[in-house]
Amino acid sequence: MQLTGDYLALAYLVSATLFILGLKGLTHPASARRGNYYAMFGMLLAIVATVLTPAVRSYDFIIAGVVLGATIGTLIALKIRMTAMPQLVAALHSFVGLTAVLVAVGTYLTHSRTGTLSTVLMAELFIGTFIGAITFTGSLVAFGKLQGIITGKPLIFRGQHILNLLMALLMIGLGIQFLLHNQFDALLAVIALALALGILLIVPIGGADMPVVVSMLNSYSGWAAAATGFTLGNNLLIITGALVGFSGAILSYIMSKAMNRSISSIVLGGFGGGEGATGAGPGADNTKGVKTAAVEDAVFLMANASKVIIVPGYGMAVAQAQHALKELADILESKGVTVHFAIHPVAGRMPGHMNVLLAEADVPYDHVFEMEDINPEFTTADVALVVGANDVTNPAAKSDKASPIYGMPILDVYKARQIFFIKRSMNPGYSGVENQLFYQDNCSLVFGDAKKVCEKMVVELKAA
Ligand code: NDP
Repeated sequence: MQLTGDYLALAYLVSATLFILGLKGLTHPASARRGNYYAMFGMLLAIVATVLTPAVRSYDFIIAGVVLGATIGTLIALKIRMTAMPQLVAALHSFVGLTAVLVAVGTYLTHSRTGTLSTVLMAELFIGTFIGAITFTGSLVAFGKLQGIITGKPLIFRGQHILNLLMALLMIGLGIQFLLHNQFDALLAVIALALALGILLIVPIGGADMPVVVSMLNSYSGWAAAATGFTLGNNLLIITGALVGFSGAILSYIMSKAMNRSISSIVLGGFGGGEGATGAGPGADNTKGVKTAAVEDAVFLMANASKVIIVPGYGMAVAQAQHALKELADILESKGVTVHFAIHPVAGRMPGHMNVLLAEADVPYDHVFEMEDINPEFTTADVALVVGANDVTNPAAKSDKASPIYGMPILDVYKARQIFFIKRSMNPGYSGVENQLFYQDNCSLVFGDAKKVCEKMVVELKAA
């Protein structure tokens, strides 16, 4: 059976519609699962329809590729930790970039052999290669930074922006040379320059800006896919690439707004020297000037509170404390305490990280509040329980103009009557900045692994 003409167009149209419904579904946790199914069926239909086109003459390589890819994909999906998702996404973007480059080179070689190269096709090849190559190395650097293989500190040197600009201009010059004189060498030089530019563009960007970078690379990978779609004359790839390109760009905009940073300042780099929350920062064991509390003290105050706001962060994800936290919230509610969960847009290590974990633990959606909605409530909260969050609660973002996170909107935890902060040490969060909250009179630290502390709280509460 072969699919051609209107039938192929119809199959692609249905796929594209399913992708759009998938994106729509992903806009809310309640519909996210359905959205994923739409996107999965859309992709299945797209693959089947493409494989059935007359252009496909042999199935051997396709079957081998599908089996190999599906096996690797399944293994990764089963093994990946939720906290490692951003680097996985970055790694996957790099494949899209590399594919765009390889398809462009392959298409050039095929068409130059058959003498069917047109200027329009060559322009598409030029655009596809440079976006693809930048996406490829840029994503690899983002992967290295998030995985801790490369330092999370911004790598800045003098004349960096001028160098980038000169390289970009040279690349455009070579592109014109390629278009006018059909020089394959010029295309190869464009690829080499774009590969180097991808590295140079991402190394000066610090750890704290990595989420926006990953989202931006997501957008680039979409444009690279769209360019490949033009090269291959595949409408669905153009539509899908544009969807990814635009949704990545919109997400980057939303995230940079959540950090109160302009996209251009992120792209120009140099912010956020955080190494990630893995290493012990200076003074990691220095508890001088901070108050500590026992689990029993925290439980006593929470059990007698009328409103408790729980603020989850990266540490909750690492400890997998969401189920214990849900049980804690249930018991408090059974005692007549109002319990709300407060989510910062960049809490954790990927957009929606906390929402996914709380949904997994069956925390009802109407108990989970976004930053703008929950912030006015902190003044009326008797207790704010911060579970492995740090940067997203740091008042230095509001008060300390010298702080690298100055200007980033935060959860107004500092306004709560009493704050209990669960973490293991005095280590800073992702941005590497010390949290001013620890030294506030109304803040006490409960040291320990988030899951173990929450489980202990549950035991204490049940006994209370
Ligand atoms: P932070 O990284 O600021 O802080 C996490 C805290 O969790 C640390 O201080 C750490 O302290 C604690 N912690 C780690 N493991 C445990 C554990 N097992 N039990 C208890 N506590 C633990 O997290 P936030 O969620 O507050 O902020 C997110 C940060 O990550 C922001 O700076 C954001 O820009 C950045 N980021 C966000 C991404 C996103 O898309 N959401 C992606 C990439 C980065 P200790 O070691 O002392 O326990």
